[in-house]
Formats: sequence, C-alpha cells, structure tokens
Amino acid sequence: MRPDDKRKAKECIFCKIIQGTLPTQKVFENERVFAFKDISPQAPVHVLIVPKKHITDILDVRMEDASVFENLFLAAQHIAAQLGIAGSGFRTVFNSGDHACQTIYHLHLHLLGGTQMGGSMTG
Ligand code: 5GP
Ligand code: ZN
Repeated sequence: MRPDDKRKAKECIFCKIIQGTLPTQKVFENERVFAFKDISPQAPVHVLIVPKKHITDILDVRMEDASVFENLFLAAQHIAAQLGIAGSGFRTVFNSGDHACQTIYHLHLHLLGGTQMGGSMTG
C-alpha cells in the first residue's frame, strides 16, 4: 500500500467497521470479505459487501487483487441465500466515482433485494 493509501485506510469508515472499532450489523464474514447492513437502506435487504483489504474503488483493483471480485460475488451468492432473496431476485451494484455518487472510497458491492425494484438503474 502506498503511504497516501495507508493514511486513507486509517481514516476509512469501512476499515473501522471491519476492525470492529465502529459498530455495525454484521451479516457475513470470511477470511477476505466482510458484509454488513447499510446504515441507510434503500431496499428491505441492503447489504454492503467489502474486501477486508482497503482498495478504494474498481479502478484501484490491481491484477494481483483481481480475485477480490470473485470473493465479493461469491459472498453475494451466499448472503442472498442466507437472507432468503436468492429465489425472488436481487441487484448488485458498484458505484464508482462522482457521476455514480460513490461516497465511501473503500470498494463495496451493494446487495439489494426483498422488494420488486424498478427497471431503471439510473434512478
Ligand atoms: P456508495 O454511495 O459509496 O456506493 O455507498 C456507500 C454506502 O455506505 C451508502 O449506501 C451509505 O448508506 C453507507 N454507509 C455510510 N456510512 C455508513 C456507516 O457508518 N455504516 C453503515 N453500515 N453504512 C454506511
Ligand atoms: Zn478502508
């Protein structure tokens, strides 16, 4: 990790949640991934799935870390079944950068479900 990234990771809300220094409602955890309920849910089920390693966004994923995507989506599969929305369907979203309104710069996969969602993905 570059020195600047280290500084950012130290201040990162999601790193603090992973480390247990900020409280959260944990949904799932394994060696590489941590998942918790979104504080401001946009659907009956709204879970954030994050890599334990501080990676800021999709553009920050290096080849040696590419398995992070596999880990996040496999966790999404597991959590969807765990929370009973695998059959009814769900949406997975990565927001990247300003136009997508990314607010937390620690890579996270949104898992949304538990209701019929609209067809538009741009709100
Ligand atoms: P983004 O807009 O960056 O894709 O998504 C960030 C998400 O993190 C938002 O949906 C927001 O509600 C959620 N969030 C922000 N701060 C916290 C927090 O302290 N705890 C939890 N559980 N979620 C948070
Ligand atoms: Zn972080």
